[in-house]
Amino acid sequence: MSTSPVWHPFHQHGLGEYIPLVTRGEGAILHTADGRRVIDAISSWWVTTHGHNHPRIMAAMREQTEKLDQVIFAGWTHEPAETLARGLVEMMPDRLDHVFYSDSGSTAVEVALKMALGYWHNRDEPRHRILVLEHSYHGDTIGAMSIGERGVFNRAYAPLLFDVGTIPFPATDPQPTLDALEAACTAGDVAAFIVEPLLLGAGGMLTYPPEVLAEMRAICARHAVLFIADEVMTGWGRTGTLLACEQAGVTPDILCLAKGLTGGCIPLAVTMASAPIFDAHYSTDRAKLFFHSSSFTANPVACAAAVANLQIWREEPVRERIATLSRRLGEKLEALAQHPQVSNPRQCGTMIAFDVDAGGDAGYLAEIGPRMREHFFARDVLIRPLGNTVYTMPPYCISPDDIDRVADAMATAIETCAGS
Ligand SMILES: *Cc1c(COP(=O)(O)O)cnc(C)c1O
Repeated sequence: MSTSPVWHPFHQHGLGEYIPLVTRGEGAILHTADGRRVIDAISSWWVTTHGHNHPRIMAAMREQTEKLDQVIFAGWTHEPAETLARGLVEMMPDRLDHVFYSDSGSTAVEVALKMALGYWHNRDEPRHRILVLEHSYHGDTIGAMSIGERGVFNRAYAPLLFDVGTIPFPATDPQPTLDALEAACTAGDVAAFIVEPLLLGAGGMLTYPPEVLAEMRAICARHAVLFIADEVMTGWGRTGTLLACEQAGVTPDILCLAKGLTGGCIPLAVTMASAPIFDAHYSTDRAKLFFHSSSFTANPVACAAAVANLQIWREEPVRERIATLSRRLGEKLEALAQHPQVSNPRQCGTMIAFDVDAGGDAGYLAEIGPRMREHFFARDVLIRPLGNTVYTMPPYCISPDDIDRVADAMATAIETCAGS
């Protein structure tokens, strides 16, 4: 049916679903070739923070393209990378004094794992075990899949995935989580514990309280287990604060940032590390250097976009926008939660989610998912439910009218798509 050679991610071409052609972006809106104005209610997969084509970010990239397109970053440097690294160290929690660049959330996570194992290796205390939280998602490369939830999306690749220790998700009672973490850390072979702070994204928009995050961090500190915060999705204001960790007063040993780092317009990621991690690799011995790179590490145009993003955070009322958006979304969620077929309504900052009763049809492959996606698209709203979980996480610039449209589309989706 399709004549395009393009193979799309997380898309079943065999179903022959319509693939919209997007020609222009503006704020929270995507314009398509067939003249539609679609509300981007999931921030183009959680990346767009200030809106599409933000003028300051676009201008910064244009300006950078006049100067330097790309340069090797092993032992060479450039102004946008230096400015960005200094800005990040200043803006992010104290102790995260070192900035390592890469290109995506998955690679930021791979880098974090390699830093953790390198730390223990270079100290001649080999620890290799990684602890993860149940239902986590950290990316689609082999290492990132290994530390994520196992399921239909990685079953074919299971033979390549390494073994990890899984800590139960802190659902209603956090005690089993904390006990399991304490017990696992006591074994002494644990290199690091990696978490999505407060909000698990791809695992189904699951939330847990800041106090639990703080307790988990404290347990790791007591056992000298490195604490890695994967804020690839939660970072840059999604959860209401710049970082989710902020709400728990937690500073990780290693922090992963990507998605909103450039305002979500061009690929770039960082893995920030505290001094002990960097120092373990600092030596006159070349065998102890950090063995990781990719061709486009710290691309100057991408770094310029991120520098502009930091300026927007410093100079524009971003936090106020986030607070206003969170309040409006909270009101919508309250109304939607009244529906008898809605369960487990939850909010974390600018993200609201709920589960739709589909008569036992649940999980990632639930048939109700694509049915609702179609329903939303017919109403010019871009929402991709996670199975029977519906959520929105719009750019912070979305207008009150467009929030109304998104909420209305959600209400009619529940009424027309839910089971009886
Ligand atoms: C999206 C995501 C990743 C992977 O980022 P990519 O840029 O898609 O590789 C990693 N961790 C979390 C928590 C994410 O949401």
